[in-house]
Amino acid sequence: MRCAASNPNDLVVAAKMAEVELKDVGKELPADSPVTPTSEGIMARSYPRESGSSAAASPTAEPSANAGEGNPGLLAPNVIKMPQASAMKRPDPQQNGGEAFVNRDGTVAEAPRMKKIQFADQKQEFNKRPSKIGRRSLSRSISQSSTDSYSSAASYTDSSDDETSPRDKQQKNSKGNGDFCIKNIKQADFGRREIEIAEQEMPALMALRKRAQGEKPLAGAKVVGCTHITAQTAVLMETLSALGAQCRWAACNIYSTQNEVAAALAEGGFSVFAWKGESEDDFWWCIDRCVNVEGWQPNMILDDGGDLTHWIYKKYPNMFKKIKGIVEESVTGVHRLYQLSKAGKLCVPAMNVNDSVTKQKFDNLYCCRESILDGLKRTTDVMFGGKQVVVCGYGEVGKGCCAALKAMGAIVYVTEIDPICALQACMDGFRLVKLNEVVRQVDIVITCTGNKNVVVRENLDRMKNGCIVCNMGHSNTEIDVASLRTPELTWERVRSQVDHVIWPDGKRIVLLAEGRLLNLSCSTVPTFVLSITATTQALALIELYNAPDGRYKQDVYLLPKKMDEYVASLHLPTFDAHLTELSDEQAKYLGLNKNGPFKPNYYRY
Ligand code: NAD
Repeated sequence: MRCAASNPNDLVVAAKMAEVELKDVGKELPADSPVTPTSEGIMARSYPRESGSSAAASPTAEPSANAGEGNPGLLAPNVIKMPQASAMKRPDPQQNGGEAFVNRDGTVAEAPRMKKIQFADQKQEFNKRPSKIGRRSLSRSISQSSTDSYSSAASYTDSSDDETSPRDKQQKNSKGNGDFCIKNIKQADFGRREIEIAEQEMPALMALRKRAQGEKPLAGAKVVGCTHITAQTAVLMETLSALGAQCRWAACNIYSTQNEVAAALAEGGFSVFAWKGESEDDFWWCIDRCVNVEGWQPNMILDDGGDLTHWIYKKYPNMFKKIKGIVEESVTGVHRLYQLSKAGKLCVPAMNVNDSVTKQKFDNLYCCRESILDGLKRTTDVMFGGKQVVVCGYGEVGKGCCAALKAMGAIVYVTEIDPICALQACMDGFRLVKLNEVVRQVDIVITCTGNKNVVVRENLDRMKNGCIVCNMGHSNTEIDVASLRTPELTWERVRSQVDHVIWPDGKRIVLLAEGRLLNLSCSTVPTFVLSITATTQALALIELYNAPDGRYKQDVYLLPKKMDEYVASLHLPTFDAHLTELSDEQAKYLGLNKNGPFKPNYYRY
């Protein structure tokens, strides 16, 4: 028996470990993508930060890596150019009646105190700055709800009465650094606790920090990141910092930022631009603040959803001259990269982390299996036993959702376009249907396809009163939410992230997170599984940053199998798992190296 990852030769830094033939890897995925990237693709997922000794890896504690000429922490905010945008109208929950839930029998009691909500012009123009008032009211409409912290387990402090947009605040951390834009720097202590809790469940990143103590495989790396800003992301960021990188970060999702974690990062010297409940204009503004800085230019991108990459392509294409590579985590972002590659427009190498086994087979499946129930419970208090649920898409995410719901006693239907996944659903005991066959009877509709317009107005019109509608896919394109913004329908915000959309006859549907991905908007996700993804991301960054010229071309690559195995092995000690070692005879028989890789690239797990 050997203990996982116990062999120090496995690799001290991933760059060394990847003496593997990388050139052939990653070419196996199809270059053409069925998904059209959209500018609304504001949702994605990602992760983490460090500590142990909390300060040890913070940017401020690593002056050689993070101070000096390029130190973003020393830049005054006023040297940074801001993009401009127009104000937009959104519902203000404060104006809603806030009546209680729907009658489950299909009737609606007395007319609730509801207000018509204007959805005048949702179209964003990012070149016009919104008025102060416009941003204020939007900020309030999202953050002032008394249940705001409800949607984020770790948000002790989100329900503050502070209506001021973070963009209108001048904040500094205790060291006088103001190069960040977050909700409230005073929440830093809460955030630090969250980060320390996350560290307990992120053993591989902590191990990487330890192993990299002598070496700094990311020394000189200037990483600009756009991921969910959560405690787990903080552990990743602080790990990258411990490995020598400087980081500037924005959120890839307007709802998923844990404000106190962002505060802890800012207090630790990271340039973070994110808060929970950003407007779409804020979202792009924050991304711009990360890259549009005097005296600092990124040389690595860590993206989740492709929005950061898209922004740099659109606004600062010259930046790519210095960028050594892109690490992309999400299905959606990866599709975008393949499209760029196909069009001959990808000008740097990119790592497709999404299709790493250690990401896809763990994050997408196990994370969603655990968090779908959490997201639904927190927002609706629904009981699952006996409920009829239709899950659209039986990929990794759909499989996770179906398994969890089935285990809770729900009656689960599946829709699929792919006969293989459809057959899997059948063999797993789910009824394969077309959405319109069950849409009248189901209690819950969940989309997990990564596609667009999977649930459209026609389906929504046919749903029964009280039907809960939500999305677990990356983008807010799966449910045609825009089709619900018509004059005859009334929106009522009943809780943070929960809207009742009311038809003229009184029928309501319960729309969660406005069609954005449920688990990251309305619940937390299991740290351990994020550790696996975050470690894969860190290794991908190290690999791309250290790769000798010519190893990677302007194309999209997968991490080598050996690195996937390494990521997995770093997590096994948590379970006191004992891995069987191949005997010489067995290794010879199977034609394998005793230290891996143990499977060919085409193995599907
Ligand atoms: P996947 O490709 O494995 O699965 C998607 C499935 O949807 C495929 O089987 C596909 O055939 C099917 N599909 C496509 N269009 C459909 C349609 N119109 N009707 C029915 N089925 C359809 O992808 P995945 O890994 O399951 O990820 C799905 C989405 O979830 C992606 O957008 C991904 O970024 C996102 N994601 C979310 C989380 C989360 O925590 N919520 C985690 C990982 C991935």
